[in-house]
Amino acid sequence: EAKRMGRNQFVIFDATLRNIAITNKKVADELLAALEDDQFEVFYQPQISARTLEIQGVEALVRWRHPTRGQLAPSHFIGTAETTGSIARIDAVVLKKASAQFQAWRQDGIALPHISVNISAQRLIDPALLQSIAESQLDPGQLCIELLESISFDDQDTSLETAVSAIKSLGVDVEIDDFGTGYASILSLLSLSPKRLKIDRQLVLPITTGQSQRRLVASIVEIGKALGIEVIAEGVETAEHVRILRELGVDSFQGYFFAPPLSGNALESFVRERGWFRCLGEGPERFED
Ligand code: C2E
Ligand code: MG
Ligand code: MG
Ligand code: MG
Repeated sequence: EAKRMGRNQFVIFDATLRNIAITNKKVADELLAALEDDQFEVFYQPQISARTLEIQGVEALVRWRHPTRGQLAPSHFIGTAETTGSIARIDAVVLKKASAQFQAWRQDGIALPHISVNISAQRLIDPALLQSIAESQLDPGQLCIELLESISFDDQDTSLETAVSAIKSLGVDVEIDDFGTGYASILSLLSLSPKRLKIDRQLVLPITTGQSQRRLVASIVEIGKALGIEVIAEGVETAEHVRILRELGVDSFQGYFFAPPLSGNALESFVRERGWFRCLGEGPERFED
C-alpha cells in the first residue's frame, strides 16, 4: 500500500504512528503555551575541581513545571521542541534566567567562576543569540556554551562553525557535551578548539568495571592534554568514580555523587555549607598525595 504511493511520500499507515503525531502536536501547542505562561525553570548542577576540590561552576538544566504533569525533565520535551522549533525560545529563556540567577548569587556573596548553558543547533545559528549573550550581564569569561548532541560539525555545515567562532570572539567559552558518544569527532576538536570536553556518562559509569573502560577515559584525558583542552567527567555517581577519575587526571567532576541538579536556592545552600566535602566523607586531606 505504502509502496504504491511512491517512495518519497510519508504515509501514516499505522494507528500508533498517528497517535504519536497527535501527541507531538499536543506537546508542541503546550510548549508554546508554556513559553507564554513562563513554565520553564532552571536547575543547576555543581561542577567540582579535581585539583582544588572547590566548586568551579554549574551547568544550567531546564525543567518544565507542567500544570498537570508536575516537573518534567528535558527528555520529555526537548525532542518535540527541536522538531517544532520552540527550542531556540526555550534556550533563550534558560540563558536569561541562568544569568539573572548568577547575578543574584553574586549579590548574596556567592561568586562562582562560571555557568554553563546548553545550546541547541537551532539556537546556535539564531542571530539573536549574540544579542542575548551581550544582554545577559555576564562577563564573557563567566559564560560557557555547551554544544549539544543535535549539532553536527562533520557535514560541511560552515554556518555552525561560523556561529561558534562568533561566540568565541565575544570571549565566551565553548564546551563539547557528551564527548565520546555524541556529535563531535576528534577531528572537529581542531576547528572548534573548545575550552572543555565533557566525557559522556556512558563512558564514565563503567570505569569501575575494568581496565579497558579506564583506558578509554585515560586516552580522552590525553587528547585533552595534548590539545590544551580541559576535561570534565559527567555521571560521577560514587566515591569510587571520584578516586579513579582523579588517578586518570580528569580536571573536574559533575554528577549525583556531589549533587543532582538543584534549584537556585538549594545550590546556594550547597555552596555555603560546602556540601560536597560532606559527600567526600573524610574531607579534602584524603586526596592529598
Ligand atoms: P546534558 O547536557 O548531558 O546534561 C547532563 C544530564 O545528566 C542531566 O540530565 C543531568 O541531570 C544528568 N545527570 C547529572 N549527573 C548525573 C549522574 O551522576 N548520573 C546520571 N545517570 N545522570 C546524571 P537532564 O537535566 O535530564 O538533561 C538531559 C539533557 O537535556 C541534557 O544533557 C541536555 O542535552 C538537554 N538539556 C538540558 N537543559 C537544556 C536546555 O536548556 N537547552 C537545551 N537545548 N537542551 C537542554
Ligand atoms: Mg550539557
Ligand atoms: Mg552532557
Ligand atoms: Mg547528555
